[in-house]
Amino acid sequence: MTDCTNDIRSLRGIGEKKAQAFNRLGVFSLFDLLSFFPRRYEDRSVIKAIANTVSGETVCISAVVSEEPRLQRIRRGLEIVKFRAVDESAAVQITFFNQPYIARQIHRGDELRFYGRIEMQGTRRSMVNPVFEPEPASPGTETVTGRIMPVYRLTGGLNQKTVIQCMRQCLNSVRVPEVLPEPVRGILPDTSEAYESIHFPADWQSLSAARRRFVFEELFLLSCALGQRRSEVRQGILLARPNFELLYRSLPFSPTGAQRRAVDEAAANLSSGRQMNRLLQGDVGSGKTFVAAALIWQCAQNGYLSAFMAPTEILAEQHFRTLSGFLCPLGVRIGLLTGSMSAAEKKAVKARLERNELDLIIGTHALLGQKLPRLALAVTDEQHRFGVDQRAALASSGDSSRSSGTLPPYVLVMSATPIPRTLALIIYGDLDVSVLDELPPGRQAVDTFCVGSAYHARLLAFIRRLCAEGRQVFVVCPKVEDEDTLEGLDPQSSEPGLLSAVDYAITLRAELPELSIGCVHGRLRPAEKDAVMQDFLLGKFQVLVSTTVIEVGVDVPNAALMLIENAERFGLSQLHQLRGRVGRGTHKSYCVLVTDHDSEETRARMKIMCETSDGFRIAEEDLRLRGPGDFCGSRQHGLPELHVADLGTDTDTLLKAKEAADALLAADPNLEQYPLLKQRVDLLLEKTGGTLN
Ligand code: ADP
Ligand code: MG
Repeated sequence: MTDCTNDIRSLRGIGEKKAQAFNRLGVFSLFDLLSFFPRRYEDRSVIKAIANTVSGETVCISAVVSEEPRLQRIRRGLEIVKFRAVDESAAVQITFFNQPYIARQIHRGDELRFYGRIEMQGTRRSMVNPVFEPEPASPGTETVTGRIMPVYRLTGGLNQKTVIQCMRQCLNSVRVPEVLPEPVRGILPDTSEAYESIHFPADWQSLSAARRRFVFEELFLLSCALGQRRSEVRQGILLARPNFELLYRSLPFSPTGAQRRAVDEAAANLSSGRQMNRLLQGDVGSGKTFVAAALIWQCAQNGYLSAFMAPTEILAEQHFRTLSGFLCPLGVRIGLLTGSMSAAEKKAVKARLERNELDLIIGTHALLGQKLPRLALAVTDEQHRFGVDQRAALASSGDSSRSSGTLPPYVLVMSATPIPRTLALIIYGDLDVSVLDELPPGRQAVDTFCVGSAYHARLLAFIRRLCAEGRQVFVVCPKVEDEDTLEGLDPQSSEPGLLSAVDYAITLRAELPELSIGCVHGRLRPAEKDAVMQDFLLGKFQVLVSTTVIEVGVDVPNAALMLIENAERFGLSQLHQLRGRVGRGTHKSYCVLVTDHDSEETRARMKIMCETSDGFRIAEEDLRLRGPGDFCGSRQHGLPELHVADLGTDTDTLLKAKEAADALLAADPNLEQYPLLKQRVDLLLEKTGGTLN
């Protein structure tokens, strides 16, 4: 058996020219060649009776040459070989262009298999330049019909036949050592079987089993690489696990299974001292805050401080109230620190921090500048509104006192942006991910409708009725003002025909004079924005007209209608976020999407919104409709290119691969027992130019 790291020049028939052609395809070693998977496959496995073939079909037939092939020289540079072939059902005219030697190879009476495209004129069938071979195939040769054929990417100097022959030779003489540890591989085909089947599958089942294996292998290696980096991460403070049942029993509700699972996953980090970078993903209303509360309690029980950072002051205040509700009965001491507090108030809170009189400090980015000794846990909410730098800054706020021996804090990032799991795992590969995939019971689904602008009068009546019942209403428009041509604006937002929040509010005030209507948009200063939001929360406004600034989670349980104008302008995930603003209380809630667009794509998106409230399904559809590149924006995630795996569809495999990698690394962090695996993982890290580090 040949070593798979040998150069491809070691193959018979590969000279310098062909070797260079292979090099251009990225193929240098025999291993590279085996890893050069077919671009697609041709199904030549079914042999059809000639009479059953139809025009335009590419098929395999088995036929007898019924007349001696004639070589005709039509003119200079055009020679044809022509003959008839028959099976029991019908005849076919076969023609080869400019391959005069065929006349010497094929003779009357030969039994051959042909693979090519059938053309029909009336009832006469013909085939031009088919692939052919004897029937039955002569032993020892690679058959090219009657089976599934690989089709490879080519470059000048190489043809399919050469690649196929080299591949055959390579498969026969090289054994790739198994990189997957036995228990990890499980029922997946082993390397020799998988390489054989990915190139020359006996049938579609073995091809799909081989593909499954390579998808798994690719994602497993990636998970090992990402996981190894994780395991290099520093120690955290050891925090004994409290009896969470005490906390659970103090609640007015019982935590969902998903909440318990997320708490357990994170608490295991804290109690084992393994540094944590955890992304807590959960749909709006899934109860992420409570998961944070449980971990904050674990820290407090151990005498350590937690910090909770929210993107706006209103949210910080809301979290202050919620977390106080959960934790004050258990004796946790909580402080709030925001930019709008008076100097005296701030000073008082800071003094309490310094005297170690607080277990939890809640705030906005104002917290970033703060010295936070004894910080054990840093929580950031709605991470998509934070820069990565801010996250890092918060995570390192504990470092200021590192010299005194303090370890860095555990980090929990909460996000309601339902990123498909695959992407989350990949983009935030350095993060552990917990998913809240279950909503608290009794939550009413938000009824969603899609209507045209002709429904405006009826919508006004609907708003009137809801407000008369004491409910409140959100209206979202895609732009701020009508004359929006200001520089620096998203050019799309200055398109004519889009409703603007400011003008919509003016019109609505005229249409519904009996209601009080507020307006909020990103052009306002943060304090002004907060003031309007606060008034809406307190019920001073019945209707709030806004741009997407309200996307981020202020809880207004009394709001029962989310009306979105020009709904076609918003991404699916964004629509889902907006819809999540309602249905947070006990009232029946509605979401109305208004659009006059009836393009196929808009209709497809609106249909998904009306059909499902499952944030992950919506995110997956979004990924499908927009593609991963678009989904991540222009973000450089610095991941190696995936060759076999598909992030849109191979989610389950990724989860399994990651689980297996984590388990393996837990037992053997440096992969010392698996030198081959370690080598491949190192190679992967090297290929990504260290971006994984
Ligand atoms: P989000 O995940 O959107 O941040 P929150 O943490 O704000 O969700 O929770 C939404 C609401 O659900 C809050 O009022 C919270 O108190 C409540 N809640 C959280 N967990 C549960 C539960 N297990 N059962 C019932 N209500 C819950
Ligand atoms: Mg929240």
